[in-house]
Amino acid sequence: MRFSDKIILVVGGNSGIGLASAQAFAAEGAIVRLTGRDQATIDAAVAAIPGAKGYRADIADLDAMDAVIADIAAQDGRIDTLFVNAGVGGFASFRDLTPDDWDHVDGVNLRGCIFTIQKALKLMSRGGSIVATGSIGGHAFVPGNTAYAAAKGGLYAAMKVIAGELVGEGIRVNMVSPGPIETPLLHRNPGMSEADVEAMREVMINAVPMKRMGRAEEVARAVLFLASDEASFITAANLFVDGGTLELG
Ligand code: NAP
Repeated sequence: MRFSDKIILVVGGNSGIGLASAQAFAAEGAIVRLTGRDQATIDAAVAAIPGAKGYRADIADLDAMDAVIADIAAQDGRIDTLFVNAGVGGFASFRDLTPDDWDHVDGVNLRGCIFTIQKALKLMSRGGSIVATGSIGGHAFVPGNTAYAAAKGGLYAAMKVIAGELVGEGIRVNMVSPGPIETPLLHRNPGMSEADVEAMREVMINAVPMKRMGRAEEVARAVLFLASDEASFITAANLFVDGGTLELG
């Protein structure tokens, strides 16, 4: 019960890695607040997690995130751990990349995450922890990944600066960077058929030294470790949860 009575905000907590983490936090005693865009899966997550509260809020809409933080301030008065996990994918070859593609990915994966951290910090104090979700895609060549790589790589760079600025305040800031994980994200690539998804999954599995996709629960375990006091001497770290892909692939 590493998170007994801790207030945990999981941004992007209604699906995949975020949902698995929200459930794992709750199983260790946390009071979970979660956000997402899709009301049906937010409701399902809240129903499955005792004591949880959900917010429908687009992370790219900074006013919407202000409203989330204001409600948590009024209801809970603090945030002990922030897991900023919302993310979107989408592939476009560099020649075809449009400013709209770029803005969409950046608005969620980088700008939205950065300013959500800034807003949540107002409710955080010494002993608090922040975990952000990066990706091996921010560190490796994946064709068609310009916008995603820039956003996740940018989030990694910003995470280090934020960690450095907060170290004196006793707030730790770390990142988990997953490799290929079996989540709904795989099915969210516009224009991809199920056959395309299956072909992409095969390519990804072949690239992983462990020859399988990871599970959301395996990423959640790393998130909980970094968020917990077990990681009390760890800040500005980036933990790859990728079956060895980046280092051995
Ligand atoms: P997922 O199941 O699609 O979950 C993505 C989460 O982000 C959902 O909760 C989603 O909410 C939320 N989200 C997306 N756009 C949002 C927006 N504009 N405002 C608020 N919330 C938004 O995929 P996942 O694999 O668990 O992804 C979680 C994180 O892991 C992402 O940052 C992703 O980039 C990263 N990641 C995933 C993999 C992988 O292979 N799966 C690999 C590396 C990194 P809704 O469902 O309501 O849209």
